[in-house]
Amino acid sequence: MKIAIVGGGPSGLCASIMAKNSNNEVFLFDKNNDFGKKLLLTGNGKCNYWNNNQSIVKYHSNNEELLNNIITVENLKNTKKFLDSLGLISIEKNGWYYPYTNLSSSVKSGLVNAARSKGVIFKNNCEITKIEKLDKFRLFYNEQFLDFDILVIASGSCCYSKTGSDGWGYNVAKNLNLNVVDVKPSLVQLVTNCGLENKWAGIRTNVKIKYLDKEETGELQLTDYGISGICVFNISRNISRNLNNKNEVIINFVPWFKGNENEFYEYLNKRCKILANRNISSLCDGFLNYKLVNIFLDYLKISKDIYWEKLDVNLKKKFVNLLYNFKIVIVDTKGFECAQVCSGGVSLLELNLNTFETLKISNLYFCGEVIDVDGDCGGYNLSFAFLSGLLVGSDIFDKSKTN
Ligand SMILES: Cc1cc2nc3c(=O)[nH]c(=O)nc-3n(C[C@H](O)[C@H](O)[C@H](O)COP(=O)(O)OP(=O)(O)OC[C@H]3O[C@@H](n4cnc5c(N)ncnc54)[C@H](O)[C@@H]3O)c2cc1C
Repeated sequence: MKIAIVGGGPSGLCASIMAKNSNNEVFLFDKNNDFGKKLLLTGNGKCNYWNNNQSIVKYHSNNEELLNNIITVENLKNTKKFLDSLGLISIEKNGWYYPYTNLSSSVKSGLVNAARSKGVIFKNNCEITKIEKLDKFRLFYNEQFLDFDILVIASGSCCYSKTGSDGWGYNVAKNLNLNVVDVKPSLVQLVTNCGLENKWAGIRTNVKIKYLDKEETGELQLTDYGISGICVFNISRNISRNLNNKNEVIINFVPWFKGNENEFYEYLNKRCKILANRNISSLCDGFLNYKLVNIFLDYLKISKDIYWEKLDVNLKKKFVNLLYNFKIVIVDTKGFECAQVCSGGVSLLELNLNTFETLKISNLYFCGEVIDVDGDCGGYNLSFAFLSGLLVGSDIFDKSKTN
């Protein structure tokens, strides 16, 4: 049997390693001159490739109820076992796994070497430009074509297109009459327009951030276009999929305080008694970046030199409300070129969820980010790329054993 895998990212590499046996020829195509171009960028070049805290709630889909069939204990166990078999020594930070070398190239070479030693045929610099579904799958590239019994589309999403994944797989699916769920940027920075952006650019502070029922805690990066940081990335999917509606995010700048807004007001009243003779700016200095405090005071037209006890009650309440419940409208995301992943893609309803073979066209598979599954920050997107690639490869291995 002849098998074509289009896309030499993590999902395609895993599929190729698992699919290869003595009865088949596995061709791995990538348009780039090397494999795993996006993989090399992950985790700021350190590659956060796994998370110890695996849970279905870290994964998302527009058919979320079907994820139970995919993110199973058994699939996760097999994926972790496979990763361990690559010879990677890991370092764990709060459950987030990185290669011990702190180099994403270690993960890439682990996969590439495993594929090479299995005898996968590498076809770099080969962009598949057309696919014809005849008896077999005819793939056109570099002014030639080859016919294959089995085709795997592992071509990624359409974010960070400079890495090679430019949404081509979505079009393949659509041309074969498969349903592709609307694709949106996810794990992406958010654009605001509250007038403070140029003032707060460069400040980082810990917050609790909330959009509808999704709440995240972590470091907020305030920028000249809006907001960024892992906590922002993790709510960006919900906002991105909902951008036409009113997108108001609520930021709590005092997440360490364990009471409600009224109790925080009382806390400041007490604090000013304990920390006597301090103006309002110095009073807040111990729990919030002083530059941000001054920006907020300026915004509310409160002098930073005034003492808390001298401040009008209404202004006190406004200040407390701003720190505790800062409401900000999101006008846009930074788009596909800045997004770490896409949400949406080939619908789960089109796929056998044990194998990722399409239900309508036998011997056609999809794996990785081209599918309508995306994860939170923390290694979950690579986890899914590996997991789906392994399921595809294992099914092909079994098929070619019996052929
Ligand atoms: C900056 C950044 C940081 C990230 N950090 C992390 C992280 O730390 N942890 C994490 O879990 N996830 C991270 N991700 C997400 C993760 O990289 C992706 O989810 C993952 O790479 C998807 O794997 P894939 O195999 O599905 O697709 P890709 O890795 O995108 O690979 C697809 C491949 O297909 C090839 N291709 C496409 N079309 C064709 C064609 N027509 N012919 C031939 N070849 C083709 C492309 O060249 C590409 O190499 C990050 C993403 C980015 C952009």
